[in-house]
Amino acid sequence: MTTRPTFLWLFFLAPICAQQGVIQVDVDARDAPRRLIHVQLHIPASPGPVTLLYPQWIQGEHGPTGPIADVVNLRFRANDQTLAWRRDAVNLFAFHLTIPQGSAALDAAFDFISPADAGGFTEGSSMTSELAVLNWNQYVLYPQGMPADQLRYRATLRLPPGWHFGTALDMAKEAGDEIEFQPTSLATLVDSPVSAGAHYKTIDLGVFNGSPHYIHMAADSDRALAMPSPAVKQFKRLIAEAGALFGSRHYRSYHFLLTLSDHVASFGLEHHESSDDRLGERTLLDADLLTFYSELLPHEYVHSWNGKYRRPAGLVTKDYSEALRGDLVWMYEGLTEYLGSVLATRSGMETPELFRERLAYVISHLEYESGRTWRPLADTAISAQILFPAREDYSALRRGIDFYGEGQLVWLEVDTLIRQLSHGAKSIDDFCREFYAGGEATPVVNPFTLDDVIASLNRVQAYAWADFFRQRVDTVQTGAPVQGVENAGWKLTYDDIRPGYWNTTEDQDRNTDMLPSLGILVKSDGLVADVVMGGPAQKAGVVPGATITSVNGRQFTATVLREEVQGAAKTTDPLGLTVRSGEYTSTRKVDYHGGERYPHLTRQNGKLDMLTEIVEPRAK
Ligand SMILES: [Zn+2]
Repeated sequence: MTTRPTFLWLFFLAPICAQQGVIQVDVDARDAPRRLIHVQLHIPASPGPVTLLYPQWIQGEHGPTGPIADVVNLRFRANDQTLAWRRDAVNLFAFHLTIPQGSAALDAAFDFISPADAGGFTEGSSMTSELAVLNWNQYVLYPQGMPADQLRYRATLRLPPGWHFGTALDMAKEAGDEIEFQPTSLATLVDSPVSAGAHYKTIDLGVFNGSPHYIHMAADSDRALAMPSPAVKQFKRLIAEAGALFGSRHYRSYHFLLTLSDHVASFGLEHHESSDDRLGERTLLDADLLTFYSELLPHEYVHSWNGKYRRPAGLVTKDYSEALRGDLVWMYEGLTEYLGSVLATRSGMETPELFRERLAYVISHLEYESGRTWRPLADTAISAQILFPAREDYSALRRGIDFYGEGQLVWLEVDTLIRQLSHGAKSIDDFCREFYAGGEATPVVNPFTLDDVIASLNRVQAYAWADFFRQRVDTVQTGAPVQGVENAGWKLTYDDIRPGYWNTTEDQDRNTDMLPSLGILVKSDGLVADVVMGGPAQKAGVVPGATITSVNGRQFTATVLREEVQGAAKTTDPLGLTVRSGEYTSTRKVDYHGGERYPHLTRQNGKLDMLTEIVEPRAK
């Protein structure tokens, strides 16, 4: 608004921006089993005021999730003097101090507390006594002013004795318990986590198009590292199928960092040349669990193209203090979800039947979500940072992170439209080869807008794509998003047979999912997690947050609830749900006689089966 702040700004930044020295960061993770990380930074600087920032907005987490509250013991020194510092009263991730005359550098030190709580993303639990996933954004400060891809860092890391590690970072040398990495930009450092542990194994997955690929596994026991040989073959096929789909690779090497523990936060986080993938300790030992989670690593891998190489313009930021704008997160996550599931099936990690079961599951959950009547898909993407941590109660009314599931269905519909309009000559594979082409086998970022996506789609197959996205993404769509599966020759149907995928999801989430029948999602202890607005249970007065103590007079268990719902289908008597809400108990009469209901995809006679075509392997 005025020129005066600009002048002050330049003066303010001068002490560090004036020079281009490499910042040294030494991370001592030898106390990782105590969940404490000790950090020292040596930052070339000249005398005067300076502002140092702690990373706040974390790429891939779509929000301001930098764990600033876990930074403790913060101290600054220069010229053998301890320096006073002051946290900014508005931006709590910024620290102001003045470097004294005669100083050529600033030394910063702090400890980072890695939480025991298994919730959240990288800010959640990332360490046990046996392993650690180290994310550099938690261990750096950076001077305000210079873009993250221009700041240079030289990182060292010390690990507990006997621990092994894996990362996409280039090593300079390893001496004793200290690893020194090649100097790199802050952007690449933060994008390159290290996994490490006492029980560790690296599998070489081979060289594809000149790039080596690895899977590094850290686990809470040696036994958990036993990846079955068919799974290794499937990973190799995944890499080949991704090459066939995209026709390009934008990394020098790729590293899956797979952590197997029941005591770290469970999620996947994408990076350009690696991914931070976290699953339960015994996932590799249980064929059903391995299949159930088969889409996680393909999803994160697809992000190397969609999200890292091609990135929505609103997610291309100068540094970690600039807000991430999520208006295209429905493409960033939705297309990745779609391509990840397609690649998992093409690679043999999951069967075409499971691919369809997952689609039926996603559609039915969207169908019973009344939040669809007020919140368009685009708003779930923009609101990602408030929806990820949102509570489970009334989540169907709120509407959750549907840019994954509904985003996937939007891109399935795009694929089926391209196939229909081109009479089978083209598919979304052609879009992938066109949109993710260019660049080189190095990690660079190529930003895009929705107009770029539409132009690219039109080069593959002309269509009113702008209108299509306006309708599917920006406009409230009350009906279930079934168009993609219907174009593909299938339809959503319900019967009383519980699909295997539904069953395992209930096991993993420790709940009973009767949303399509009784209109209720119940935790294993009877806690009502959610209700369908206008569904039988909600109409009878059952409220999220209440606890079902008995069903028709018998103590609540998942089995009792199922049996009584089956029994109610043979009578006109209402189902009696006794619920405790606060200190009061009441019995709610639920007038529901439809039995159990579960979704499936069923073939539409006479229509081409595109779903089977879509998941056929392509790689030679
Ligand atoms: Zn993702």
